Amino acid sequence: TIPPLAQVVGADECVPCSTGETVRYANLDYAASAPALAAVAQTVTNSLSQYASVHRGAGHLSQVTTARYEQAREVIRDFVRARADDAVVFTRGTTDAINLAAHATRGDVVVLDIEHHANLLPWCAPARDGSSRVRVVGACATIDDTLAALEAELAAAPAALLAVTAASNVTGEVLPIGRLASIAHRNGARILIDAAQLVAHRRVSMVGHGIDYLVFSGHKLYAPFGAGVLIGRQDWLDAAEPYLAGGGASASVSFGDTGTDTAIAWHAGPARHEAGSPNVLGAVAIAAACEALDAVGFEHIGLHEELLRARLDDGLATIDGVTELRIFEDSTDRVGIAGFDVDGHTPREVAVFLSERAGIGVRDGKFCAHPLLNRLGYPDGAVRASFGLGTGSGDIDRLVGALATLTTRARAR
Ligand code: PMP
Repeated sequence: TIPPLAQVVGADECVPCSTGETVRYANLDYAASAPALAAVAQTVTNSLSQYASVHRGAGHLSQVTTARYEQAREVIRDFVRARADDAVVFTRGTTDAINLAAHATRGDVVVLDIEHHANLLPWCAPARDGSSRVRVVGACATIDDTLAALEAELAAAPAALLAVTAASNVTGEVLPIGRLASIAHRNGARILIDAAQLVAHRRVSMVGHGIDYLVFSGHKLYAPFGAGVLIGRQDWLDAAEPYLAGGGASASVSFGDTGTDTAIAWHAGPARHEAGSPNVLGAVAIAAACEALDAVGFEHIGLHEELLRARLDDGLATIDGVTELRIFEDSTDRVGIAGFDVDGHTPREVAVFLSERAGIGVRDGKFCAHPLLNRLGYPDGAVRASFGLGTGSGDIDRLVGALATLTTRARAR
């Protein structure tokens, strides 16, 4: 038996099943939103009991809150091994962070066709002059060939940025981010890594991997919804117009005598892109999650996942008609995500069966990665089971058992 590696909130939730039993809810949907770690929930509760306005107040609680907010940046900076001159900008999540990066980027952007829409659509918006600037490269059957195709694309014409996911939200396959960064840099481009699906599972080192911009969301990192980060070079971010205009981003504002000659000076630093009252609790929660993951240790996280992954892959392989989705033939590392198809059943039927019959929560659909699902031959979508720190082998065994019941019943008809 493989027990959960850490305590998450809601782990005791029970649900009634169509069999008449009431069972513990098996959450196998961590890739969509991971449950909060108990340690993170505790930090959020503590912060709630002691907070006031951030940045603008001189009072004691304002100072405490401001210090917590700024401290959160430092914890996150250390967690991802960012450079001293990197800005940690708080956003609403990964989608928001990539929109900010798109706002701050001039020139062509190269992406793969396996990306989540969050790392495709922000780049598809036409540039100010109306020209398109996204260049989509199709992933190949192997990672090596895919890297070669990216290199060829970047060498063929200059690009400002290569924007790539670190781990697929459909298959869990991990991409070699260090090699991707080298390819971008030797062709004069910067690299943005969408680490939404990696940062809770593997150590990401901005310095070690040579990452220029890193983005991720709190709600996939065992923190609540509503906060994420863009981490990247301060001078590049300062060179861009503020992402959001408003209070907090502006250093001084005047309208002159006529009321028409507006003079606005914007702040430098992360505040430039964080107008409005910030999500302090979201920031504090992400920092608490980083500390909690460091306390568990990525060696243990990796091993726990590997054991569960093997159990899941072996279990799925025993069921006739279940096919796991894979992008690459040569990928060797996968986080706790399994996209799969069940022959003879729509993804929705499978997900509803798992929920109603066995109290198991999975995702079905096209996972905001339509180009990838279409290319893999699943235009009607697939099913996705995903797991993490609060998962034990009992959850995996229940999934495999329920899928076996579904497929056996179908064959008996
Ligand atoms: N990128 C990837 C790889 C994702 O899996 C997701 C979330 N499914 C996102 C980006 C978008 O994250 P968010 O919804 O938190 O903005």
